[in-house]
Amino acid sequence: MRGIIAPIDSTLNQYEQEEPGFNFLGFYVRQYKVNKYHSGTKTNGKPLGFKTLITPSKQKQKVHYEQITSIIEAHKAAPQAALIKKLNPIIRGWANYYATVVSKKTYSDIHNLVYQKLNTWAKRRHPKKNWGWVSKRYWHSIGSNSWVFAAKKEGLDFFRLLNHADTPIVRHVKVKGESSPYDGNLVYWSSRMGNNPEMPIRVSKLLKKQKGKCAHCGLFFRENDVLEVDHKIPKSQGGKDSYENFQLLHRHCHDTKTANDGSPGTKSDCNSVEPKPTKILEKSCG
Ligand SMILES: [Zn+2]
Repeated sequence: MRGIIAPIDSTLNQYEQEEPGFNFLGFYVRQYKVNKYHSGTKTNGKPLGFKTLITPSKQKQKVHYEQITSIIEAHKAAPQAALIKKLNPIIRGWANYYATVVSKKTYSDIHNLVYQKLNTWAKRRHPKKNWGWVSKRYWHSIGSNSWVFAAKKEGLDFFRLLNHADTPIVRHVKVKGESSPYDGNLVYWSSRMGNNPEMPIRVSKLLKKQKGKCAHCGLFFRENDVLEVDHKIPKSQGGKDSYENFQLLHRHCHDTKTANDGSPGTKSDCNSVEPKPTKILEKSCG
């Protein structure tokens, strides 16, 4: 069997030139050694081993920021309200998705980048006006916040741009100091994946059902693993297209299982699609 799970050390230290930590479904997981006497995590007197930090991956932050900037670019001449209307659902969706793992710093970093972009957007629309004039037109004092990008509507309240940093950070699951990213946290991820718009529904349901583990080898899935949906009873033997008959497997486990099933001819088709890095494929065959 191929080695799927890297040694635990790989999230602690540089391991064979790789960055410590790994990406999994848009989350970046990194473990830090924690000094026994450090007050970082309370473990009821037990020695502290390491703590696990899960954050949105840099890649996902970049993609999100690029989506925002491309909308701002596309709305050079559009009214402010139209731009806000377009940006708000994107900010809301992203910020909510990462609300359990995100840090205030990540949110404020993104907020600052977006602010700079909007700053450029606003100045470019009024090349002859000074910054004081421009800022008064597009930014307003609302509540305790004096720099809210908002459109004034006649007789109505401000229509304001959502701020990433206003999304409350929710800690659903406490990550214990001793826990490994390969046990409880993967269960936690897989349970969150039901909301991930990038996961095919069938795969996310099965991940949740299988608690993030391959039904064949029992090992946790990692981000770059190719996952395949298998029919427990092959269709050629009367197996049905139903969740009771589906299971999620590593591709190589699927190969082994199908060879044991003796179902003819299906695996060559299954393997005809090359995996794309960081993308989980949903393939149903066997
Ligand atoms: Zn497997």
